[in-house]
Formats: sequence, C-alpha cells, structure tokens
Amino acid sequence: MKQMLIAGNWKMHKTFTEANNLAKQIAEWVGSNKPKSEVAICPPFPFLYSISQLLNGSKVKLGAQNCHYEPEGAFTGEVSPSMLSSVGCYYVILGHSERRTYFHETDDIINKKILSALQFGLNPIFCIGETLTERQNNQTFAVIEKQIQNGLKNIALNQIPHIVIAYEPVWAIGTGISATVDQIDEAHKFIRNLLVNLFNEAGRDILILYGGSLNSTNANEILKLPEVNGGLIGKSSLDALEFTSIIEFAEKSM
Ligand code: PEP
Repeated sequence: MKQMLIAGNWKMHKTFTEANNLAKQIAEWVGSNKPKSEVAICPPFPFLYSISQLLNGSKVKLGAQNCHYEPEGAFTGEVSPSMLSSVGCYYVILGHSERRTYFHETDDIINKKILSALQFGLNPIFCIGETLTERQNNQTFAVIEKQIQNGLKNIALNQIPHIVIAYEPVWAIGTGISATVDQIDEAHKFIRNLLVNLFNEAGRDILILYGGSLNSTNANEILKLPEVNGGLIGKSSLDALEFTSIIEFAEKSM
C-alpha cells in the first residue's frame, strides 16, 4: 500500500485564536475519520506550543516552517531545532522556495539545517523545485538533482527514513496554477530514481510529496500518481473543510 502524508503549511497566516480553532477542527476530523494517511500541520512559531498541547493524544503531527542550524546562541530572531523538539514538533519544513528566495537560503545552508534538525530528532520536509525560467530552459531535472545532492550531503543511511521530500515547482506555489499531472508524474519518477541511486533500497521508502496549488479540485488526479506520497499544502490548508477533503482523496489513492 502506498504511504501518504498530507501536510499543511500555514505560512504567516492566522491569529492565535484562529490557529487554535483550525488545529482543533482538523484534530477532531482526524479523530473521527481515522485516516490511514498521516496528517501534519505546520503553524507559525508563536502558536506551536499551544497547538502541541491541543494535539496531545491526536494522530495529527506538528511541524514548524523553518529552523536555524545552530542548537543555540546569539542569533536574534532565530529558532533552533532543539527548541522545536522541546515544544513537541515532529516535522520541520526546510528549503521552502520562499525561504530560498526571500531569505537567500542556499543549498549549503539548507543542508546544515537538515543535518541539525535530524540531530535534534526532527523529521525534515525538504523542499525542492525549479523556477519557471529553469523549466523553460529545460533545466528542471538538473536543478532538482543538484538540490537533492547538495541538500542531502553527509546524511547517514540510518537518517534516511526521517527525510520527506516535497517537490514544489516554484511557479506553482501560491499561484493557483498547479503543475500538470504529466509534469508531476515525470518529476516524481525522476526523484525516485535519483533517491534509489543515492541511497539504494532506503531511497524507495522516502515519501515524495507534491506541493504547488494542490486543492480539493485537483487532488484526486495528482495524489493517485504512483510516486506521489501526499502533498505539502499552503492555501488549501487554511480551511478545515478544504484540507480534510484533500485527506479524503489521499485515502482513496493508497
Ligand atoms: C507551499 O507553500 O508549500 C505551497 C505548496 O503553497 P500553495 O499550496 O498555496 O501553492
């Protein structure tokens, strides 16, 4: 059976009360519907602790949207992986294209963050994907390969099961235009082959999520693809009904 993970990236949205209400609605839905797919939510930092309390006993996993690579120190405004573990985070999104673009995160920085997150018991959701220009210049596969090789440098084989990859074409994020089923199928098959080449059998079990304007209208055909193990979802994760409809499609695609 195909393993599925549906993860919501709330980005910089919601107030404290709104965030707690959304988390509660999702946890209640998961509690009553008992999906086989794994479900995770990644709220903004200030809401992590209260949501972690709220999720206590729920199957919904908690994730953060970023972290620093240092365990502690004089890095004003930053949050360390050990802090995230200490408030109950299981996942951390790393290498998101918004971090690469607006905060100038390089493959090297992302690799340091992945190694550090793993060391502190977090499971990185490692985002990769090409820009529109790169796709138009036929560089998609070269870009993805480089991002994976650099991002996963020096990862020990026993850490591989803790990594999740999210393939997110930059041009499809937040634009309302998802990649086509053929583009997603082709990219995910390429990523799977690459992971198997790099990590042998362990590469077969790494979850590969799709992200980029995934919603309840396109989820059915995208999540059915053989190498798609779920989704990293921005906009459509901000509404409980929309998010849980996507989980329902994940259930049908296992
Ligand atoms: C994302 O931020 O990872 C994402 C995929 O956003 P959206 O679903 O809004 O395109």
